[in-house]
Amino acid sequence: MRRFDAIFIGAGQAGPFLAARMAERGMKVAMIERKFLGGTCVNAGCMPTKTLVASARAAYVSRRGAELGVKIAGEVAVDMEVVRRRAHQVTMDARNGLADWLGTLEGVAVVYGHARFEAADRVVVNGETLAASRIFLNVGARPVIPDLPGINDIDYLTSTSILDLDTLPRHLAVIGGSYIGLEFAQMYRRFGSKVTVIERGARVASREDGDISEAIQEILEAEGIDVRTGAERIAFARGEEGTRISLGDADVDASHVLVATGRKPNTDDLGLDGAGVAVDPRGYILVDDTLATNVPGIWALGDCNGRGAFTHTSYNDFEIVAANLLDGDDRKVSSRIPAYALYIDPPLGRAGMTEREATSSARRILVSRRAMARVGRAKERDETRGFMKVIADADTREILGAAILGIEGDEAIHGVIDAMNAGTRYTDLQWSVPIHPTVSELIPTLLRGLA
Ligand SMILES: Cc1cc2nc3c(=O)[nH]c(=O)nc-3n(C[C@H](O)[C@H](O)[C@H](O)COP(=O)(O)OP(=O)(O)OC[C@H]3O[C@@H](n4cnc5c(N)ncnc54)[C@H](O)[C@@H]3O)c2cc1C
Repeated sequence: MRRFDAIFIGAGQAGPFLAARMAERGMKVAMIERKFLGGTCVNAGCMPTKTLVASARAAYVSRRGAELGVKIAGEVAVDMEVVRRRAHQVTMDARNGLADWLGTLEGVAVVYGHARFEAADRVVVNGETLAASRIFLNVGARPVIPDLPGINDIDYLTSTSILDLDTLPRHLAVIGGSYIGLEFAQMYRRFGSKVTVIERGARVASREDGDISEAIQEILEAEGIDVRTGAERIAFARGEEGTRISLGDADVDASHVLVATGRKPNTDDLGLDGAGVAVDPRGYILVDDTLATNVPGIWALGDCNGRGAFTHTSYNDFEIVAANLLDGDDRKVSSRIPAYALYIDPPLGRAGMTEREATSSARRILVSRRAMARVGRAKERDETRGFMKVIADADTREILGAAILGIEGDEAIHGVIDAMNAGTRYTDLQWSVPIHPTVSELIPTLLRGLA
């Protein structure tokens, strides 16, 4: 049995950074990873998908070139092999960079293999027992495959396996109209596939407010994506074209099917029972406000704790645990203001509460909206789709939440995120003087609309 000061299971977006901080303090740590260093973000999530989104946008902008006075001789064609290779290279650079960095850290032993708890202070990997008084779980999540009729009779893709595709699907059906599904839907449409999004619920991106979902659907439909919402009875069968998807009242014949119906935590094969670590009914590890589990000496960080599903939330989990354990600080997850982006183009940048959440919080709220068509930068680029809105507390003047669905919405939202983190009242920002012509320049005007 090998003894360490700390064991990390999963090299996602939290573990490696905390392992490095502990090693800097002279501790001996084991970093166990069963597949690739960097986890989902680097290998099957943010990095490859945003690289693909960049290629898809290049195709979109090229096709629109003539509208901006740029002539391209012949048709714009997409070379899927180059597109795939570029995304793969970005992943490999990040993965290798992480491996090189971890390899230089004294005190960090990287162990490749699947880890399982034997007891609260022991795990088994590759038949060897490793022990430590502190164990950090950063095991992430994986795609959920819903139990739909016929699904096991067809060849379907997930958000991971689609990254290996180097040919263009003739017709891609995307099952699930949420964040991951919508990003792939638009990207493949721009690459040149026919795309149908099939969503069981009444609207796409259903966690967002209705006006946002509606605008997203309009953006996708304007690019020729067929969006079928309210598809409550989805069934699959092999068809002449690949797969026949029955929606009850209609059929869709697709050459490829991407299943993007959510993710579940990698906690079912971790032997959590052996350690006594409690999970919720969906398998997320229960943690307190400092990310400690119910078992002293075991923490859970990143997607597996159900407190965030993003790279930045996982990284912030590292920052919270490091601050508390190593720097004598007192940081809590509940202080974190939720923020994220949906990377369709134009993107949606989001901060804090939705309008629906704010309305049901029993506060007196104010809402202000402005169309992207009023933004100089958007007009100049001729990309005026979308809108921005902000929600505030009428009594305290706190900014409760905001959404920017429009070009550079993922960047411009940071003005609001920073203001919310600083506790700035909207009345203090209404008269700030922004730079022209930017997307952010409409934010003071938007805030003045709160009255
Ligand atoms: C298609 C897609 C696009 C995304 N886009 C974005 C985006 O644009 N922005 C954003 O912020 N987030 C995005 N995400 C989410 C983001 O990738 C994750 O939130 C992020 O990677 C944080 O994950 P994590 O740190 O919890 O663990 P992960 O990165 O999932 O890593 C967990 C690691 O644990 C390993 N592991 C699991 N079990 C064991 C075990 N028993 N033993 C050993 N090793 C184990 C796994 O192999 C994996 O490497 C996207 C996700 C997907 C799927």
